[in-house]
Order: sequence, then structure tokens, then C-alpha cells
Amino acid sequence: MGPALASPERLATLNGRTPTIATLCSHSSLQIFHGARREGFPTLGIAGGTAPRFYDAFPLAKPDKFLTVPTIKDLPKHADRLRAEATVLVPTGSIVEYLGAEEFLRLDVPVFGNRAVLGWESDRRKSREWLESAGCPMPRRYEPSDAIDGPVIVKYYGAKGGKGFYLAKNRAALDEFRPTGPYVIQEYVLGTRYYLHFFYSPISEGGYRVGSGSLELLGMDRRDEANIDELYKLGAQEELQKAGIRPTFVVTGNVPVVLRESLLPMAFEYGARVVERSIELFGGMVGPFCLEGIMTEELEFKVFEISTRIVAGTNLFISGSPYSDLVEPGLSTGRRIAQEIRRATDRGRLAEVLS
Ligand code: AMP
Repeated sequence: MGPALASPERLATLNGRTPTIATLCSHSSLQIFHGARREGFPTLGIAGGTAPRFYDAFPLAKPDKFLTVPTIKDLPKHADRLRAEATVLVPTGSIVEYLGAEEFLRLDVPVFGNRAVLGWESDRRKSREWLESAGCPMPRRYEPSDAIDGPVIVKYYGAKGGKGFYLAKNRAALDEFRPTGPYVIQEYVLGTRYYLHFFYSPISEGGYRVGSGSLELLGMDRRDEANIDELYKLGAQEELQKAGIRPTFVVTGNVPVVLRESLLPMAFEYGARVVERSIELFGGMVGPFCLEGIMTEELEFKVFEISTRIVAGTNLFISGSPYSDLVEPGLSTGRRIAQEIRRATDRGRLAEVLS
């Protein structure tokens, strides 16, 4: 058995009822609704303003009903309605961003996964403590006064899409940086980025065993980032800066990738240790998570970030990925979430997968 994350009071609205699977109408909602429908669940789309029309173009992924609120910040006022519909909310990066971390933690509706993970993910220093204590190699971190012996990247806390990140080739360039919020300085790692889409089930009985359950690898992507990914075509950094062009890492899309098969054991080892450490630190991370790192030419995987819920890169694999097809043909992360809710309901173990 995994630790109980949800109290009996939190789960009271689900007793003996088929849950309605709800999420915000953005990010990875198409696959979440599509997956929930395929597992036989009713679905609810939560939208700020008016319900988006684009679902009409995707009938297999259109939610059965919509809940429209003036803005997502108003969602807590509708918690009664969500509970009345036996809702399980599937969190995405959009919910946390639009609602705010504090409001999300307080929301009185059952949520898929362990919300306590948020406190460890959103603070870059705490997430480093978690990942390093799990034994993941990470880019070296510098204090502002440290000697710098190579290129560095300066990252703001919680900066979604890497907006405003600063690259410095040396000390002189770093001294020109004028911060506008809390930040960290990291070694700029040269290599190839991989975003590994894992799924941890504390209630699964077969597979790659971790804790009380199993770890699955459902896909892998790389992000297209404007304008850094194409900037090299314009030549040297100094020249670019003189021209007033600064590199940015705003995500504009995703491309599928696979890892050299000989590197998969390492990927699973890191994924497993991060889950094991999460169980020790805060009762465990449940469901989808993404280890984001850079594979160097020495074949060392340096993890620069963890996302602890479904990432948008999984949208590539709504009808399966080269990895998830070997778990079950056509399995998306959205569908895997619905399966977990179904299995936990059937086995009376919802407290281990909801919070
Ligand atoms: P993050 O906000 O940590 O996800 O970083 C956004 C983007 O910045 C990543 O997708 C990478 O392209 C780049 N990046 C972050 N950290 C590093 C690093 N230590 N070395 C090289 N690139 C990085």
C-alpha cells in the first residue's frame, strides 16, 4: 500500500459514484478528455470566460459539459458544484498558473495526484534539494559571488517558458545582469535536451517496481524554443547583443524523440529514485511527471527541472508513443490517468491516488 494522500472527508463526494473527470480547457485537455471518455468517465471542461469553440473540431475529445467562470481565479467559489458532480480535477500547469499555488492547495475538490508536491516543485532551491538527494546529477549551481569558469544561465523562479532568462559566457557578461526577481545561476550545459514522460502508480501490481507500485515511461519529447533554437543561424552572441537580440526560451511547440536504448536503464534509475525520495519527503508523487535534462557528450544526463504533473509534450502521443505502445497500444498519458482513477475506484484505493 502507498501512503493515504486524501482524507475520508475529501473523498466523501465520490463514495459509490462514478467520478466526473474535469480539467481546465487548455494545455493537455484534449487528451485528458479523450482518455477519460475512452475509459467511460463523464467529463467536465472548466473555462474562464466562454467555452472554447475548438472542441467542436475534435468530437472525440469534447467534454460532455462545461463549467464557465468569469476567470479561473473564481473557481474556488464553484467547489460545491464540482463536489456535487463527484468531480476529480486533473491538474495541469495551466491550473496552477491561473489559479495560483496557494488557491490550488486549498481547493476543496479531490485532485488527481499529491498536491503536496507543489511546494517542492515550484521553489527551484527545494526542487534541487529533492533531485540531488535522489542522486540525480544536476547542472552546477553558482552563488552570485562565485568564480565562473564557463557559460552560465540565469533563471527566474517559476518563469514559465523561460522568458527573461539570461545567458552569460563569462564573469564580465554576468556582471551586466540586472535581476528583476528571485533567480538562480546555473552552469549552462552543452548537450541535447530530453523531456522524459513518466507515470508512477502506487497501486499497480506488475511492471518496473518502485515503492508499493510501478514506474512507466509513456513518452519523450523535446521542446521547440523561440528564439534560442534557431538563433545560431544568425552568428555569434556578441554580434547579436550589439544588434539588441537576446536569446529567449519561450516554448512554441514540441517534437517527439527517442533515447538511445542503452540509456533507458539510466532514465529508469533516475525516475525511480526521484519517486522513492518523494515518498520519504512528502508522501510520494503520484501519476505523471517529467524529468527534464540535457544529455552531454559524455552521456551524462543532467536534470535541470522536474514537472510533477502532465506536461504538454505528451500531446504528441494522444494515440500512443513508441514507449507507451509497449505498455498498451494507443495509450496516452491522459488515458493512463483515467485508468488509474478507474483501477483505484475498483480496488477501494482512491485515497492513494487523489489528494
Ligand atoms: P526551465 O525553466 O528550467 O525549464 O528552463 C527553460 C529552458 O532553458 C530549458 O528548456 C532549456 O532549453 C534551457 N535550460 C535550462 N537550464 C539549462 C541549463 N542548465 N543548461 C542549458 N540550458 C538550460
